[in-house]
Amino acid sequence: MMNSTPRVVLVTGASRGIGRAIAKQFGLGGDKVAVNYCNSADKSEALCREIQSENGEARAYAANVANAGEVEAMIDAIENELGPIDVLINNAGILKDNYLVMMSEKAWDDVIDINLKGTFLCCRSVAKKMMTRRHGKIINMVSISGLIGTPGQANYAASKGGVIAITRSMAKELGRYGITVNAVAPGFIETEMLAGMNQKQLNAHLQAIPLGRVGTTDEVAKITSFIASPSNSYMTGQVIVIDGGLSV
Ligand code: NAP
Repeated sequence: MMNSTPRVVLVTGASRGIGRAIAKQFGLGGDKVAVNYCNSADKSEALCREIQSENGEARAYAANVANAGEVEAMIDAIENELGPIDVLINNAGILKDNYLVMMSEKAWDDVIDINLKGTFLCCRSVAKKMMTRRHGKIINMVSISGLIGTPGQANYAASKGGVIAITRSMAKELGRYGITVNAVAPGFIETEMLAGMNQKQLNAHLQAIPLGRVGTTDEVAKITSFIASPSNSYMTGQVIVIDGGLSV
């Protein structure tokens, strides 16, 4: 479905997986999409071409979300080239799983840096600009791990729990500027991230999913698109769970 007024939408970590599906959903819906990536330039350019081939508008932007200078430069470039950012989707994220007693300091720092600090840096940079325009929507991709905790994921759970806290604080700070801030918390979604998980643990989780299957990236993209839509005008500070019932 095409949007009557195209918005500028930044999706971080959009080269593959959930971010890719979200970028495609917005791009094919008529919005102008900024496809952020860290390493996967080829995949990101290919995604932009795919969106453009269906008359959509998309452009790839390299930036490590954990690096303040790179984030600021990317946001400035997007606003100069595509226009003011209307929707920010903080999706970039990594896993470095291990049981807490065996977890290296580096695995802790890397996950916190990208998932938590990266979200903070992108929010800070974009929110300043949205505040002056008095509108905007920010959506943070978290995880049920940040709500219920998952063994072997203390770093990841802490990062996502932290982002849920940022979501609520920002909703309270930014509501008066017409900006909504919400989070999407997927359960197990079929992506490369899932392939990197401990498969024995994953199988145990799968048996506990009431809907009996993992989710698809398209299912997450559709929920995200609804949260960002103009029809969703009175929701802020919320965490929307999409997990096939796993956390119930
Ligand atoms: P994925 O397939 O591993 O893709 C991760 C994306 O993040 C890639 O586009 C990657 O870009 C990007 N990225 C990683 N580090 C980055 C950095 N420093 N700066 C900018 N981009 C960076 O992951 P996914 O499964 O789609 O997950 C997407 C989000 O959903 C994550 O926040 C994840 O925690 C969350 N989530 C996923 C699941 C699941 O089951 N898959 C469940 C709950 C929550 P490059 O390719 O350029 O490195």
